[in-house]
Amino acid sequence: MRPDLAQNLERVRATIADAAARSGRGAEQIALVAVSKTQPPEMVVEAAALGVDAFGENRVQEAQAKIPGVRQLLARDPTWHLIGTLQRNKVPAALELFAILESVDSLRLAEAISRRAGGRTVAVLLEVYLGDDPRRPGFRPAELVQQAPELLEIPHLDVRGLMTIAPLNASAEETRGVFRQVRELRDALRDDFGQSWGELSMGMSEDYPIAIEEGATIIRVGRAIFGERALP
Ligand SMILES: *Cc1c(COP(=O)(O)O)cnc(C)c1O
Repeated sequence: MRPDLAQNLERVRATIADAAARSGRGAEQIALVAVSKTQPPEMVVEAAALGVDAFGENRVQEAQAKIPGVRQLLARDPTWHLIGTLQRNKVPAALELFAILESVDSLRLAEAISRRAGGRTVAVLLEVYLGDDPRRPGFRPAELVQQAPELLEIPHLDVRGLMTIAPLNASAEETRGVFRQVRELRDALRDDFGQSWGELSMGMSEDYPIAIEEGATIIRVGRAIFGERALP
């Protein structure tokens, strides 16, 4: 069934406004990134017509197939966020497609991005993971604290803050605790390094109201806008 994007967006925007108010902020302080992975270009164009100005993709290959076509269809290029694991050999392609790389999950990747930046300053978020699944990507908090001085010395990178994905199958309260810890980690790094570290990208369809309550400045919402994804 074709999702009703207008209705879905209206619901998401109302939910954002309510959660923002509960966190003492205005809705305009929360950036909505519509996660368009697996969605065809037409859906992106439709969402853009409804005022969405930022999209998230998790695979460089899929983005390479999609973004140039979308760019031809839209008068104004939306902001494209990379939100999935980036392999170092895909860095040059990612730099052509994305305005911000949210999923920088290692020092080696950060250095590879810097080497390929080609004169530009690349906006990045550092991905942190607080769960106990050793296979999930992301800096562990202690590792991030330890490597932060080195990360912040890397040229051509504009580290804007942190990104996280809540552990799978966590309860709402566990998820809230994770988001809170990520915010506290951001605050501690800000105090130690005097960086702005302004951005906190956290919250997806299931948990974005909680994330906003805990201080998210960017939320990444797919299914609540575009409907359930077909299995790949
Ligand atoms: C898919 C994805 C999202 C969006 O998930 P939904 O449940 O569809 O809202 C957000 N962040 C990342 C990193 C993703 O891969």
